[in-house]
Amino acid sequence: MTANLLDFDLEGLAAWCERLGHKRFRAVQLFRWIHQKGVADFDAMSDLARDLRQRLAGLAQVRALPVLAEQVSGDGTIKWLFDVGDGNAVETVYIPEDDRGTLCVSSQAGCAVACRFCATGHQGFSRNLTTGEIIAQLWYAEHALRRRLGTHERVISNVVMMGMGEPLQNYAALVPALRVMLDDHGYGLSRRRVTVSTSGVVPMIDRLAQDCPVALAVSLHAPNDALRDELVPLNRKYPLAELLDACLRYLPAAPRDFITFEYCMLDGVNDTLAHAEQLLTLLRTHRGRGVPCKINLIPFNPFAASGLRRSRPEAVKAFADRLNGAGIVTTVRKTRGDDIDAACGQLAGDVLDRTRVRERLARRGTLRLAVERTRPAAQEAAA
Ligand code: SF4
Repeated sequence: MTANLLDFDLEGLAAWCERLGHKRFRAVQLFRWIHQKGVADFDAMSDLARDLRQRLAGLAQVRALPVLAEQVSGDGTIKWLFDVGDGNAVETVYIPEDDRGTLCVSSQAGCAVACRFCATGHQGFSRNLTTGEIIAQLWYAEHALRRRLGTHERVISNVVMMGMGEPLQNYAALVPALRVMLDDHGYGLSRRRVTVSTSGVVPMIDRLAQDCPVALAVSLHAPNDALRDELVPLNRKYPLAELLDACLRYLPAAPRDFITFEYCMLDGVNDTLAHAEQLLTLLRTHRGRGVPCKINLIPFNPFAASGLRRSRPEAVKAFADRLNGAGIVTTVRKTRGDDIDAACGQLAGDVLDRTRVRERLARRGTLRLAVERTRPAAQEAAA
């Protein structure tokens, strides 16, 4: 089978090129063509020697993910549904803002953590994505957006590993993908602008601190173990005290001096002022010194199988006011792309029945594109 060059970080690509008898600077050239210029066609890589280009054509590929659908919101948010084979699909979302462009990337098809409020969790776990499949989401989005906007400048400034899947349960594929994002010859993103969001895989938080410390977000969602055991079943394995200890160990390596805690607001479940008080006590008194943090309150995206409801806006405001008033910076996530806002994982869950996906998107009037195969970048640019 031909190698997928999206699977390699620069060190991996250098080692691969060396096995072909080529020096590291060739790997750097190749890496820049692929990630900085979005070129998949080796023939178009004009400063590579002809014999290398010919060998590459026989041995390797830049393997894009087929796009099953694209939804564009009135506010500029774009959601892509990528086919990863065997009836599985993953979602990737681009969120433009005045001062940044954020891409939310998936790490697994499905997820084994099974959080109660998450549509992806309700589908169960299919498989880990490869490094190439994680990077293909960024590769496609960055270069498709540049072509659309008619720019050679970088469009995506931030990546959050917050799409489908628990990234720290796919650690071996995640770390090389993070390195490609950070590499100056790749996407050149700063560590502060790449965030791994985890439901709390404690040993892997420690490894990430050693291997590739980027910004860390933790999906907390509950202020005590009894409730968190129900909402985030991984809590039974790594309870809150262990998770917060891991956060404290992570901070010295982290590019920011705080951890972001995500908290999905669920009506009557975790959104009362009593919960806010418990959360304050937990985060301020842990190990006698507390955990430096910010809190991001997330409005729940309802879906039928969850049996849960979105918190009332007054409850969210009161909760945020209590935390802010006590000195913990707390924001409420803006709802973006409301008109395309199927809960994360819902579209992908319907992929086994593609008619359903297309009917749903067509009904919403947001389907812009539904193709079976992604065209290589050079082909799309020429189109
Ligand atoms: S919230 Fe994240 S960790 Fe929990 S089930 Fe969904 S994708 Fe998995």
